Amino acid sequence: MYKLLAERLDTLENTIQDVSHESSGTLTEIYASSASRSDLAELETRLNSTEGLLAKALERIDALEAQVTLLQAPRRATKAQKPPDTTEALPQGLIAWRAFANLHMCSQTTTGRYIEQGMIHIVRGKWKIDNGYVKEALDAAGRRDFWVQFHTNKGFTSCDDCPHEIPPSESTS
Ligand SMILES: [Zn+2]
Repeated sequence: MYKLLAERLDTLENTIQDVSHESSGTLTEIYASSASRSDLAELETRLNSTEGLLAKALERIDALEAQVTLLQAPRRATKAQKPPDTTEALPQGLIAWRAFANLHMCSQTTTGRYIEQGMIHIVRGKWKIDNGYVKEALDAAGRRDFWVQFHTNKGFTSCDDCPHEIPPSESTS
């Protein structure tokens, strides 16, 4: 739609240029051939009609420009609007594994490797956290796996919930 309007504006511009050339050409011709009164009258008529055409063309350009502005306005508004964020917050039973590693003063690199190797159970999804998103989280089983892997490591720091034993209610349900 916008492209169509741009094309029509181009056409209108060309028409105006053509008309201008035509009228100036006529002027030169008539003056060169020592114009008679009738020639001048004809020239005046043609100039008037040219002016009329130009005025009409300008009116149409104004109208088209107004349309273009109208068409562009909602497009900008749509672009500025972000799609609604449907991502949910991290559920209560899950924790982002990087945060969990930090909590126990353990290396994120090593934790990531254990996850890759399947030694730490991971839950995948996409959840919103304070400063961004998390796609891999630890459930009760994952936290227990983590503790089993790391608790003998140098530098391991216990949290209030260590050793993250899986409560019977969670393991059976
Ligand atoms: Zn802990």
